[in-house]
Amino acid sequence: MTERVQVYKRIENGTLGLGVRVVNDNATLADLLRVWEPLSDSPEVAKKYASGSDSCKGCLNNCCNSAFVIPDMICFKAICAETGLSSAESLVRWFDQASLHAGILRLRYGPCVFLNDRLCQIYPQRSLICRFYLCTDLLGETEEMIYSVVITGIAALYHFLEQEGLLMAGTGLTGYDRSMLKLIDEYRQHPGMQEFLTADSYHQVSLMPYL
Ligand code: SF4
Ligand code: SF4
Repeated sequence: MTERVQVYKRIENGTLGLGVRVVNDNATLADLLRVWEPLSDSPEVAKKYASGSDSCKGCLNNCCNSAFVIPDMICFKAICAETGLSSAESLVRWFDQASLHAGILRLRYGPCVFLNDRLCQIYPQRSLICRFYLCTDLLGETEEMIYSVVITGIAALYHFLEQEGLLMAGTGLTGYDRSMLKLIDEYRQHPGMQEFLTADSYHQVSLMPYL
């Protein structure tokens, strides 16, 4: 099968960077993830913080210990379906409550609420942030595309929870929180957001609005 998205490397500003190229107009986010996710264990992708080998498996510096994870819309729906919890129950159970009261979405952290015995308990449902994060150099265009997809998916979740009356602006925002909310507000107008709101899987999210 010819992949609709291809991975490649190129020197950019004197540094070897990892990139992806979308080669088919019908490519979806699932196509991108299919070629991207195996890179976490690929010895061909050098990882800055890997311990021992260039693989995320068994990495002692496991970024799940300190990750700031904001689920995207599809991930959130999948976690609710997997755990049998409603949206409201999920927010209480899995999200950092101080952030939530300030109007900020963030999984309980330090380590991530879903990390158990060094393993992710929701691996098949994990967020786009988790799926895309690699401690390696990315090419500028690729970084921009991934960033746009991830923030659009997060903006969709903010929109959904606000519509449900489950998330509202609070007090106690840090400077970082304010910048994050400003960014999310900008992405509410993104042409890809509607798809995130209605999709049940990454197969239903087209990559074209991000190119
Ligand atoms: S991405 Fe995370 S788990 Fe993978 S090598 Fe880097 S720090 Fe370790
Ligand atoms: S959801 Fe899973 S992959 Fe993501 S940070 Fe938490 S434990 Fe790690």
